Amino acid sequence: MTALPPGSTIGILGGGQLGRMLAVSAAGLGYNCHIYAPEENSVAAEVAQHFTCAAYDDAAALQAFALSCDVVTYEFENVPVECAKIVTDHAPLRPGHKALEVAQDRAEEKGFARASGGVTADFALVTSEDELGAAATEIGLPAILKTNRFGYDGKGQVRLKSMEDIAPAWRDVGGQPCVLEGFVDFDAEFSVILARGLDGAIATYDSAENVHENGILARSTVPASDAVLRQLPAARDIAAKIAERLDYVGVLTCEFFVGRQGPVLNEMAPRVHNSGHWSIEGAVTSQFENHIRAVCGLPLGSTALTGQRTEMRNIIGEDANDWADYLADPDCHLHLYGKGEPREGRKMGHVTWVHVT
Ligand code: AMP
Repeated sequence: MTALPPGSTIGILGGGQLGRMLAVSAAGLGYNCHIYAPEENSVAAEVAQHFTCAAYDDAAALQAFALSCDVVTYEFENVPVECAKIVTDHAPLRPGHKALEVAQDRAEEKGFARASGGVTADFALVTSEDELGAAATEIGLPAILKTNRFGYDGKGQVRLKSMEDIAPAWRDVGGQPCVLEGFVDFDAEFSVILARGLDGAIATYDSAENVHENGILARSTVPASDAVLRQLPAARDIAAKIAERLDYVGVLTCEFFVGRQGPVLNEMAPRVHNSGHWSIEGAVTSQFENHIRAVCGLPLGSTALTGQRTEMRNIIGEDANDWADYLADPDCHLHLYGKGEPREGRKMGHVTWVHVT
């Protein structure tokens, strides 16, 4: 395994808070980062050495960017696959473009999860209102209609309760290809976050129990409840299998429901994840550092817990104005992403408490 020495340059496609926290971790290990993002105001670029502000379909800019990097990674899963392929021609891309292809397409993702031994909700890919009607009859209602591509944080989703909901739901999603998913009656939600090194070694984090509000992650707590812990071994096996089948390098997140019969895979993210932010203080090596270690070909760091109980809460929208209150609590670790004006539903930062006793 050839490790990139400190001083090397890591390229990051995407300029949001995940890129920012990756860049901070990279700096801690002595690496430089080069951010590539289409937005001028990139919170990742603010903490990195180099920034290319260009579109994801600008082949010349992508080539110049890749040539300036020793390795390239990404911090969000909607990087166009074409863009990833251009990068791959000029620099190692870790994880590779296959992971993007699978994660960008819900039907493909569920199929891949099943082929890896996982259980998913019943689903059907639908491309017309008639197909939606047929799928609703087949799968049964209630069900959830999700755009096949580009959905996140509950966006691009409509719940169907009765057959009367079909026409309005199809209009709501703009008539684009969707998956109809059977409604999973679940007790809790959790994620399995693992890092896979260049040598194939896998380090898995303790799973947080995740609570969502309005489709957005509100808080993650480690350790999770017994209901989650009982399903963890099976969920970890599936996540590891998926990582191996993708020949994955870096941090991979698989989100699960605690189903009646066992873990039900909801979706995967080929990147560090909001439900792993607790690991910055709550684990010996954070998810960000382990992602950097993996893509640079370094040995992975320990994922052991630093405390008995760790809680992470997202700071959304106007909550960012409470920064002084958080800081008044000496046990609270405040992370703000430098996004400026709070906007409703916008992830502005997070706070973490590690309880050592
Ligand atoms: P997603 O964008 O797929 O992560 O969905 C956002 C949230 O909607 C999930 O975290 C669940 O709380 C809920 N949800 C999504 N899919 C289903 C499903 N098939 N059954 C029940 N709840 C779901």
